[in-house]
Amino acid sequence: MKTTCQHSLFIFGFLVLSLSSIAQKLDVRIFSDEVIDAIAFSTRDKEYHLVNEDSVLFSFAANQNLRIVNKDTCFLLIHDSLQWNLNAFTLGEDTASSGFFINLSHLETSARAYQGDLHISHADHGVLLINRVNLEDYTAGVVEAEGGYAGTLEYYKTQAVICRTYALRNIYRHEDEGFQLCDRTHCQVYHGKAGNSLIIEASRQTHGQVIVDENFKLINAVYHSNSGGQTANSVDVWTSQLPYLVSVTDTFSLAGNHAKWHRSISLTEWHIFLENRGVNIGKLSDEEMIQRLQKRIATMNFGHVQIPMREIRKYFGLKSAFFEIEIIGKDLVFKGKGYGHGVGLAQEGAMEMARAGYTYDSIISHYYKNTSIVGLQLLKVFEGLEKVSGEE
Ligand SMILES: [Zn+2]
Repeated sequence: MKTTCQHSLFIFGFLVLSLSSIAQKLDVRIFSDEVIDAIAFSTRDKEYHLVNEDSVLFSFAANQNLRIVNKDTCFLLIHDSLQWNLNAFTLGEDTASSGFFINLSHLETSARAYQGDLHISHADHGVLLINRVNLEDYTAGVVEAEGGYAGTLEYYKTQAVICRTYALRNIYRHEDEGFQLCDRTHCQVYHGKAGNSLIIEASRQTHGQVIVDENFKLINAVYHSNSGGQTANSVDVWTSQLPYLVSVTDTFSLAGNHAKWHRSISLTEWHIFLENRGVNIGKLSDEEMIQRLQKRIATMNFGHVQIPMREIRKYFGLKSAFFEIEIIGKDLVFKGKGYGHGVGLAQEGAMEMARAGYTYDSIISHYYKNTSIVGLQLLKVFEGLEKVSGEE
């Protein structure tokens, strides 16, 4: 058995794929947050090939296991009596299979199922586990992780179109790191293969569909949990005003679990917050301390000082930037509506619309104004994909 690394000129083919190829596959870093010491890999129903420098070193049959140990500069791979020392390799599926299971030795969770190929290498910031997965399989996986289990088919179709659009709009986010998307909330949460048959069906029924703006550009399909009855303008939350991310009345969210919230803090804490921002507390009348509002606003006025709602939200860790203020005894009470940044689609509102019989395209046009749903193949969107940075 070899005891040293096979140093190779291994170059991930996926880095030089043309944009049109990306239409079919995405390279997603998985277990992005984990420090990786040892990995348990196992095949499911089909063969997987161990590939290094374009050579197949071994073929694993269905239901076989491989242990991969991180040796800092290379990896030790162990399967029964066989061992390999490699500095980078691919575990590639033979034909369309139900994927593989993978787990990390230090995690006490059960193994996760993924579809597609797995590329393993070292990078400056640690071990890179990259899952090359079909766009549609990825979409279903993200809908399951982000959309929950309580939806209807029409709601999941809505989420599938949004998650697919969001992913493709952001595929350059991690370009410098050697992959396209991470599996955290930074991109979208992705824990592998979807298991919910309704979600898989929703992804299939909306195959290749994405949302574009009036210029036929992919929209930034941001979403949040509950709007509290009115969504927010993107300019009030971030810096750019986008014509499709404008505030809309959203009574559908009022039926959701996160439609309302309360949070109390001490008046002293509140006074310190205001004084640090130049508010002269002594000059404020009781009326000026109380802030009532029916609609979303971007800033609150305290005397001559304006404070953005998003700043108050962030400082006090509030569920949303849609709230009014009341003083009760020695406490200040935030009485709020909704959950999340409030821009774009509200998931609880969308669920309610779907339950009320709205179709996924009408749900999408309710939350994203002046947009259309188009098929990727029709748009040839990948040839025109522009590099964009996130609005966050
Ligand atoms: Zn990311």
